[in-house]
Amino acid sequence: MRTAATVPSGETIGSGRRHAVVVGGSMAGLVAARVLAAHFDRVTIVERDRLRDGGAHRKGVPQGRQLHALLARGRDVLEALFPGFGRELEAAGAVPISVPGDFLTLTKAGWLDRRAPGWTALSASRPLIEATVRRRLLDLPGITLLDGHEATALVASRDGRVVRGVTVRRVGGLDGVFSVDADLVVDASGRGSRTPAWLAELGYPAPEATRVDPDIAYATRTYRIPDGFTADWKAVMLMSQPPTMPRTGFLFPIEDGQWMVALMGAAGQHPPTDEEGHAAFVRSLRSPVIAEAVADAEPVSEIRGHRGTTNRQWHFERMRRWPERFVVLGDAVCAFNPIYGQGMTTAAVGAETLDACLRSRRRPAGDLDGLGARFQRALARRNADAWMFSTGEDLRFPTTTGMTAGRVLRAQHHYLDRIEAASTRDPAVADVYVRAFGMLERPTALFRPGLVAAAARTRPTRVTGIAPVPPRRADQAASGRRGERQPA
Ligand SMILES: Cc1cc2nc3c(=O)[nH]c(=O)nc-3n(C[C@H](O)[C@H](O)[C@H](O)COP(=O)(O)OP(=O)(O)OC[C@H]3O[C@@H](n4cnc5c(N)ncnc54)[C@H](O)[C@@H]3O)c2cc1C
Repeated sequence: MRTAATVPSGETIGSGRRHAVVVGGSMAGLVAARVLAAHFDRVTIVERDRLRDGGAHRKGVPQGRQLHALLARGRDVLEALFPGFGRELEAAGAVPISVPGDFLTLTKAGWLDRRAPGWTALSASRPLIEATVRRRLLDLPGITLLDGHEATALVASRDGRVVRGVTVRRVGGLDGVFSVDADLVVDASGRGSRTPAWLAELGYPAPEATRVDPDIAYATRTYRIPDGFTADWKAVMLMSQPPTMPRTGFLFPIEDGQWMVALMGAAGQHPPTDEEGHAAFVRSLRSPVIAEAVADAEPVSEIRGHRGTTNRQWHFERMRRWPERFVVLGDAVCAFNPIYGQGMTTAAVGAETLDACLRSRRRPAGDLDGLGARFQRALARRNADAWMFSTGEDLRFPTTTGMTAGRVLRAQHHYLDRIEAASTRDPAVADVYVRAFGMLERPTALFRPGLVAAAARTRPTRVTGIAPVPPRRADQAASGRRGERQPA
């Protein structure tokens, strides 16, 4: 077995383009493997869970039972990596949703103007999204999936300077650990990543971390969409209204004619998982639209809760020394409060960044020196917008721990309140707002001159916008107008 004690320091490994190992076969690992397939002869994914065909829930991704919205930017990256991905996901049952046309959104300032062109989402359960990506990846030559195996440590040169592979053990097996040699190791093992411990074993100092915790919990349930249900929307988001109203509700259609209803409570107001408490929480949201829709819907799952949603970022980019031939991405580096739906998209953007770093290496082909440190710095820059967006919104709650909202952030909140108010009555503002939400635009797009002017014209405190038409069953009267402006 090649371990830190037996691999001589500085040993040259052939062309350096032969074999890459990815730890973790979830979204970040799958997209990283796709990118590596273009740069290495072989790519092995080491995944602790046994992966079955199709979209089954699994232990290693407990969040998979919760709502997973794939943002526009993430969808675009997946489409570029796997041409035809969107078509396949839709063929497998994903529901296209025009955002905001079909997406009834109650912002802090009122109902979002749905006349904006925006973008089209594909709504599906997390297991279906992951299974679609995995199927496409495994069709590629040179990809090996070592599922049912857990990576236990890094294998490195004696001085810990160069990573040469990982030690692996079969889950539930008695056959001990073995090592898998690699020219590049990628850790994509999620929030529970052991990279900080693995670095310590190789003699590196502890990385710095930032944590911002709005104390959010989820509770999600799926329902069968009632026969004949019609409404002028397909999906609903009822946002919280900090600092006093920390409850959010989503209703999204997913495959197999189901709705996924996800409730989130910040500032410790966690949604209950018992029938009565759950129903009361749904009724307590800022609009009755979700409660009315599910009133006649048959539940097809239990109510499943989830905690562990803190924004947490490891600052590997700040480390003075970083092992060669080792990179970390996805939630293993930067995990967000998931309410803004950024995780899968930032994982995809991380893979795109890895690809760019591999392509732009300054040294002769085959030389990976400096790649790891360069990548972690580039990734930190790419993650910065999503981090600012997520933590910036979370800091609207004074109970959020880890940071406090300073003067600049409070001024930003005030400005964004005006933008949100403008987005309830101006489709041009609403369009930039949803594009920024979908990560198609950087948040700085919200500060373009036209939007600044719109914000200046808008009073932020009035709840305005087009009110939704109440949903109806086919057997109910079909008359009704498309919405009326609420009294200001
Ligand atoms: C409640 C909740 C809701 C969310 N909603 C959204 C959403 O709406 N939209 C969105 O884009 N994102 C959402 N996310 C985030 C999203 O789930 C992740 O960002 C995304 O899955 C990328 O994560 P990952 O691949 O880095 O890690 P994970 O998905 O956590 O996967 C880690 C993988 O590594 C494996 N593993 C771990 N350790 C080892 C080891 N030692 N050896 C081998 N394998 C190992 C695990 O089995 C697992 O397969 C949500 C997250 C949560 C918690």
